[in-house]
Amino acid sequence: MTNKELAHIFATIADLLEIKGEVIFKVLAYRRAADTFREFSRPIRDVWREGGLREIPGIGPAIADKVDELLNSGRLTFFERLKQEVPVSLAELLTVPDLGPKRVALIWKKLGVTTLPELELAARTGKLRNLAGLGEKTEAKILTGIEARRHATGRMPLGQVWPVAQDILKYLRGLPGVKVAEVAGSLRRMRATIGDMDFLVGAEDARPVMAAFVTHPQVARVLAQGPTKTSVELDLGLQADLRVLSPDRFGTALQYFSGSKDHNVRVRELALEKGLSLSENAFQRKDGGELLCATEAEVYRTVGLAYIPPEMREDRGEIQAARLGKLPKLVELRELQSDLHAHSTWSDGQASIREMAQAARSRGLRCLAITDHSQSLGVTGGLTVERLRQQRREIDSVQAELGTSFSLLQGAEVEIRADGHLDYSDDVLEDLDIVVASLHTSLRQDRHRITERLLNAIRNRHVDIIGHPSGRLLPDREGADLDMEAVLRAAAESGVALEVNANPQRLDLDDVHIKRALELGCRLAINTDAHHPDHFNFAHYGVGTARRGWATAENVINAWPIERLLQWLDERGHRRPRTARPAELSSAPAPAAAPAEAPPAIGKAAAPARPNAKPAKPAKPAKPAASQGAAAAASSKTKTKAKGGNASARPSQPAKANPKPKKPTTAGRGAKPAKRRG
Ligand SMILES: [Zn+2]
Ligand SMILES: [Zn+2]
Repeated sequence: MTNKELAHIFATIADLLEIKGEVIFKVLAYRRAADTFREFSRPIRDVWREGGLREIPGIGPAIADKVDELLNSGRLTFFERLKQEVPVSLAELLTVPDLGPKRVALIWKKLGVTTLPELELAARTGKLRNLAGLGEKTEAKILTGIEARRHATGRMPLGQVWPVAQDILKYLRGLPGVKVAEVAGSLRRMRATIGDMDFLVGAEDARPVMAAFVTHPQVARVLAQGPTKTSVELDLGLQADLRVLSPDRFGTALQYFSGSKDHNVRVRELALEKGLSLSENAFQRKDGGELLCATEAEVYRTVGLAYIPPEMREDRGEIQAARLGKLPKLVELRELQSDLHAHSTWSDGQASIREMAQAARSRGLRCLAITDHSQSLGVTGGLTVERLRQQRREIDSVQAELGTSFSLLQGAEVEIRADGHLDYSDDVLEDLDIVVASLHTSLRQDRHRITERLLNAIRNRHVDIIGHPSGRLLPDREGADLDMEAVLRAAAESGVALEVNANPQRLDLDDVHIKRALELGCRLAINTDAHHPDHFNFAHYGVGTARRGWATAENVINAWPIERLLQWLDERGHRRPRTARPAELSSAPAPAAAPAEAPPAIGKAAAPARPNAKPAKPAKPAKPAASQGAAAAASSKTKTKAKGGNASARPSQPAKANPKPKKPTTAGRGAKPAKRRG
């Protein structure tokens, strides 16, 4: 053990003791020891061997004993015990400016935050400002501090880089003489983290564009300025390169600089097969003649491929698919009709249910699920069952205000507790419109345990969506050590949707697992997990990630028409008369039986699902018909899986699910709501 290692251990002990609230002279003793070891001229180990440890100034008997134990056994019981009391990752939080031990302790105890990524997420979602003595200003300073640290480490989350890039792009496009401008590189491919920015401009004269670029307010300093390429460092801490080229070569350059490298290797191989060499400038024929491409589509056409969307260019089979004309039609942002995971002030959100619903509607969504945290996540103000009931009344009243063209669902983000149980009983889950089940705590359990935990939630028939499945936080915290293949297979079997959480710090599932999930027949849900109305803008990052995993609108339940989504939820065993609610509430004297009252907006598909229309619902026969309708466009593989999983007793489902088989959906659904309404 080197002096440095010893010093590190004692400094960490000092930090943890201070966070714990130990008397200051003890803390200082450990810190002084750490300093002594760090600066000592000889190896401490040698001094220890000679028996001179206690003669070192500033090393008292308590410290000397601990060094003794460390050098003898390589471990220190005192430290091990301390680490169990106070998470060791907290020591790192002390390196953030404006965070002393008292504040770290407060944030840890009140919010359960133990790592830097968690701290960043808490700051970004406005959770720090409400803690005693912190406020918005400190919260902002803490964020700046974390970002400053990051610049040393390289890649930044997509969500931090994208808005800046769009700002610069807009600026470039507005310059005189600029015919076309794009951002290339991993940003264009919507990778989860970004290392630098590459801008391309098509213009006849490069000089004025270069000159204007370096004066953009985001530019911190100019690294190099030349006739065809300029490099700058941005305030953000990333490098940005600008290349200006003749517009008739723009397509070739854009294709080249968009990457990925692996993808481009394949494209060049195809060019060679056709007797062409491909550079960033042009195709070159054997006779030396050039073949220019103003658009990327021309580049792909020249090598015999259909146009490949940038998000797919990772050499994961897209070349083959493009050659065979089998590229999927990727999901698009404008196709999203619902957001099924969002928070309100009922738990840790920053806006009321009404504000969230209005924001969602103003963005063109037709349906929003309010999914506040469940009771055991006390730090976020998780809801007890009683509070959940109170919340329902507010949701109903906001729904009445909004009218029938928008569906507000009551859901919950239910904690999958460390022991694997869900935080609400099946009764409670069944009464919700939609259930998102998520892991937030004990993410470091061993692979077997944490996988079982997640599988348990997947197999619960009242769970509709698994929220941010891996639990990763970008750019630094890796997800749980899950057997992802088992998770994806189970999800495909049970029909549960896997979330593509669009928060740029999550983007979870990631692209690779999305692609695998779709191969196995899973469904996806692209949700923003909004804690503030502005967060609905995150949807774009979720869509980008889903596109990287080759998702189509058919794969994504948010892109389904609302009627189909609600029907799917009905079939998953929620007994709340969701589809009927808008009609009931909007027409004041709630009519008893009224498929006719169903508003055109909710439409024909909703009518048969109305619980009020009991006679019209021939319990059994209706179901298969409905689920066929719902799965109509799904791949045959998906359909088979979903049906098997939904209809028959699930083999993986233990007895506890069987006491509540599908049966109550008809009877229970009709009866329950009446009781609750009364
Ligand atoms: Zn969550
Ligand atoms: Zn959430």
